[in-house]
Amino acid sequence: MAPIDHPQHERYDYICIGGGSGGVASSRRAAMYGKKVALIESSPHLGGTCVNVGCVPKKIMWHAADLADKLRHASEGYHFQGVPEPKFDWATFKRQRDAYIRRLNNIYENNLEKEKVEYHAGVARLTSPSSVEITRPDGQKYTLHGDHITVATGGRPTTPSDDAIPGASLGIDSDGFFDLEEQPKRVAIVGAGYIAVEFAGVFNSLGTETHLFIRRDKVLRTFDPILQDTLTPWMEHTGVKIHKHSTVQRVEGEKGKTLTIYHNNGQTTEVDCLIWAIGRHANTEGLGLGEVGVKLDKKGDITVDEYQNTNVPGVYAVGDVQGKALLTPVAIAAGRRLSNRLFGPENFKNDKLSYEDIPTVVFSHPTIGTVGLTEPEAYEKYGKDVKIYKSSFRALYFSQIAEAHKEPTVYKLVVVGEDERVVGVHIIGLGSDEVMQGFGVAVKMGARKRDLDDTVAIHPTSAEELVTLR
Ligand code: FAD
Ligand code: NDP
Repeated sequence: MAPIDHPQHERYDYICIGGGSGGVASSRRAAMYGKKVALIESSPHLGGTCVNVGCVPKKIMWHAADLADKLRHASEGYHFQGVPEPKFDWATFKRQRDAYIRRLNNIYENNLEKEKVEYHAGVARLTSPSSVEITRPDGQKYTLHGDHITVATGGRPTTPSDDAIPGASLGIDSDGFFDLEEQPKRVAIVGAGYIAVEFAGVFNSLGTETHLFIRRDKVLRTFDPILQDTLTPWMEHTGVKIHKHSTVQRVEGEKGKTLTIYHNNGQTTEVDCLIWAIGRHANTEGLGLGEVGVKLDKKGDITVDEYQNTNVPGVYAVGDVQGKALLTPVAIAAGRRLSNRLFGPENFKNDKLSYEDIPTVVFSHPTIGTVGLTEPEAYEKYGKDVKIYKSSFRALYFSQIAEAHKEPTVYKLVVVGEDERVVGVHIIGLGSDEVMQGFGVAVKMGARKRDLDDTVAIHPTSAEELVTLR
């Protein structure tokens, strides 16, 4: 169904600004409680970052890259005959991937319709703590009035200005990655976080000459050291050219053609595509937040309390726009719990999301899973009560693969106190993305090391190592 272009009610119980993970989840939950709900989305497609330019197309690209690795393993290690050296048809695959995303956009729209959430297309702006002006794509304006308003406008990639780095705008960002019609032969990625590491892995496995520019000597600064120390050299071993302690000083060339990158150490690198992956910032501009008095923090994220309340009664914020734990399931959970609290039954009146022990995965090659405190964080919090269990091995899958291609697996448990409560699990290796969820549950439930030890191992798997650590 096409979006609605005028108010259907004089007053709504709930208005959500932003049709991404947080806004859609929160509005649907409120409608489930029989409330009059409107959701406003400014882009032509529902689903937000995750569906359109984030988790979903990224994971599809990760699968393509993983298949390229597996095809090589199939012929070289597992002696399948007739497996050609993988040659990826990026352009055709992109069209197929885009078509899948369009199907998801439609599913999102149908779900809103099924739940009776009114979908309004346009750019939203708060005009008071209880009213939102919508500017439709045709430029017409109208206003919705509501008792509760949630801002779920997400964020967008940060890119340096041409003033800061001459030629910076010759590069693209993560949104631009998903627009690439052809596979670049040579790519430079700047950054050492989730996106930089994930994109570098994809390009490298698919055969692009991949350069990664990082400010320090390791990737994933905020992750447990064991993960940084394992992934950084492995990426280099597999062919990613990591330029350490490197910053880009200047870029010259023509977008879509050859670009020359001038480094801080006087060197230059020539590539066909430059991608900035240096973090994201919240979409708060033009939303009327200042006029209504909603406070932002120093970084520009909306300040909320543990219940997602802003400082203005009746105005809330969920998801990336509030700057904590920029992950889809976090936006969804916070959005749903907020609606439970505002509109749900009595036993939900204090519902809120705990931002502690959020499990997360980096879709690197191999994947990383992590939950809870890193070793340094645990020592800082608990001092000498901390104990570490570690294991380093090769997954059985790699027993048939030549030494040079055997991916590392490294597991670490961080435990505290006499009862050895597990406060951190950090793993890298084949299948870590799928292994992590269950251990996330265990940590959330307060598992002790002996609970893991009491669990019978599943053999032969990599995950069994986590219940047999000594
Ligand atoms: P968004 O999904 O960004 O939605 C905000 C919506 O608000 C957008 O649709 C926007 O158009 C709309 N909007 C903005 N301003 C207005 C306005 N004024 N009026 C109306 N509408 C407006 N997370 C994971 O958990 N796993 C992953 O594997 C993962 N991979 C990622 C890969 C990449 C490349 C990126 C960039 C992110 C990834 N993330 C991942 C993070 C995840 O996508 C975000 O945390 C999540 O989408 C945040 O949801 P949100 O609802 O807060 O914002
Ligand atoms: P991150 O916060 O993960 O990483 C930002 C990186 O940019 C850091 O490595 C930082 O380096 C580097 N950086 C910052 N400023 C500069 C600069 N001026 N020059 C060079 N490098 C710089 O951000 P991302 O953009 O990778 O991702 C945004 C968020 O999206 C993530 O935090 C995550 O929450 C979410 N996401 C989740 C994914 C998942 O769940 N698998 C996948 C992708 C994104 P340094 O370490 O030196 O400070």
